[in-house]
Amino acid sequence: MNTLERSKGFVIEPQAQVSVPVRGTEDRFPVHRIYCVGRNYAAHAVEMGHDPDKEPPFFFQKSPSNLVTDGQDFPYPQVTQDVHHEIELVVALSSGGRDIPVERALDCVYGYAVGLDMTRRDIQAELKKMSRPWDAAKSFEHSAPCSELVPATEIGHPSAGAIWLKINGETRQEGDLDQLIWKTPEVIAHLSSLFELRAGDLIMTGTPSGVGPVLRGDALHGFVAGVGDLHCTVA
Ligand code: MN
Repeated sequence: MNTLERSKGFVIEPQAQVSVPVRGTEDRFPVHRIYCVGRNYAAHAVEMGHDPDKEPPFFFQKSPSNLVTDGQDFPYPQVTQDVHHEIELVVALSSGGRDIPVERALDCVYGYAVGLDMTRRDIQAELKKMSRPWDAAKSFEHSAPCSELVPATEIGHPSAGAIWLKINGETRQEGDLDQLIWKTPEVIAHLSSLFELRAGDLIMTGTPSGVGPVLRGDALHGFVAGVGDLHCTVA
């Protein structure tokens, strides 16, 4: 590309804005950050060897460029033999701020989606052992498949109902949104005490029990009642 074609004012070509489609429209939701909640269902905390009663919420991030949208495949990533699925309710924010009170937190929500927090579990186990950050386990290319967004003006704010993941038609994860330890408004309030939340932020709210490995060729089908379906193939 010659200097005339290059975007004015940038020394390299800037990245395109990452976005998620809005169901039933041509519109897209531009993504700012992706926050994730760790161990937010008691049964999953227990399966990972933790006591769910003693923990305040904790958070990590994925990069917006990790998103997989529009029915694209999840390519099996490098340097791992143990990639796990984590089906999650995704919250999309239309406004933000700091120190948002729980009672006003849902006013910040644009809508919801079904997401997968794909995790290189073998790498995560090593990082945990060494008390190192989780980025290499959580924030790798294509690690955040996400369905279309549905606006809260259409579906309200789901706080109960089934959440599950099937692989090749077989149920692997099964839970209910009412089992979330930290509910959506509490998650937003906690996060906003640590970070300045912004319009465009996505929050992956945690996964129910039953996490496990995926294999090349697997057809993943995630579902959250009232929100919809997510289909993704492991390539
Ligand atoms: Mn997760």
